[in-house]
Amino acid sequence: MEKLRVSDLLTGKVAIVTGASRGIGRAIALELASVGAKVAVNYASSSGAADELVAQIVGGGGEAMAIGADVSKAEQIDALVSTVMDKWGRVDVLVNNAGITRDTLLLRMKLADWQAVIDTNLTGVFSCTRAVSKIMLKQKSGRIINIASVAGQMGNPGQANYSASKAGVIGFTKTVAKELSSRGITVNAVAPGFIATDMTNDLKAEGILQFIPLGRYGQPEEVAGMVRFLAADPAAAYITGQTFNVDGGMVMA
Ligand code: NAP
Repeated sequence: MEKLRVSDLLTGKVAIVTGASRGIGRAIALELASVGAKVAVNYASSSGAADELVAQIVGGGGEAMAIGADVSKAEQIDALVSTVMDKWGRVDVLVNNAGITRDTLLLRMKLADWQAVIDTNLTGVFSCTRAVSKIMLKQKSGRIINIASVAGQMGNPGQANYSASKAGVIGFTKTVAKELSSRGITVNAVAPGFIATDMTNDLKAEGILQFIPLGRYGQPEEVAGMVRFLAADPAAAYITGQTFNVDGGMVMA
């Protein structure tokens, strides 16, 4: 097992990472733990993978706990946040990372495909942010980081549901950034391009690489680095309402 090197950038801080059992969320949880944060590792069904990640963090000298909760169910999110508060007494960083795809062309898309993606990717972000912002408002501090996607900026055939959910996340990020700004809470989004995870496993790379100026898929750790920056003080304290692309140059504003 790879040894974790813990530095103190986020020592004493508590982070919740949704969808942290695999892929980008897992890399974010490891990254935040490696700079001293106590990390709540949320998952939907992969309890074994979440437990393994917690063991890796604890084995490396960090602190973490695994919490199963479906982000599309508001009551499960309220319970998750209560569990974190009971154990650690605060929440400094929320990373809304959990997400799914149900790709198909518009005319073949069933209402259930649409609804499942919106419920998880957009309503999940709403429920988690609402639950955590109550705590952050009392603390008068906090960092909320939402994982969006280039699909929410440029569209992508076969992803009407997914791109709508991710564009929604970007709009939500701007509004909540304005609502929470007076209490020292920042809200930003990170928009990955194609990152090598289970989500992109089945895609055919040849067709995609021509649209990526850097000519390769990104790695989960490359998204995690941006999240760590946005979570850290004082480096990112004056940044809110923004969307940062980690996409190999796919979207150039
Ligand atoms: P992934 O490898 O498929 O992992 C998804 C994670 O989300 C898993 O930990 C999964 O938990 C969790 N999850 C799914 N539904 C959930 C729910 N209802 N409640 C709680 N957790 C749930 O995906 P990924 O590629 O790492 O993607 C992570 C985020 O980045 C997503 O928001 C995705 O849209 C975004 N993104 C990814 C890419 C990419 O190229 N990979 C590009 C742009 C944006 P279980 O293990 O328990 O199922």
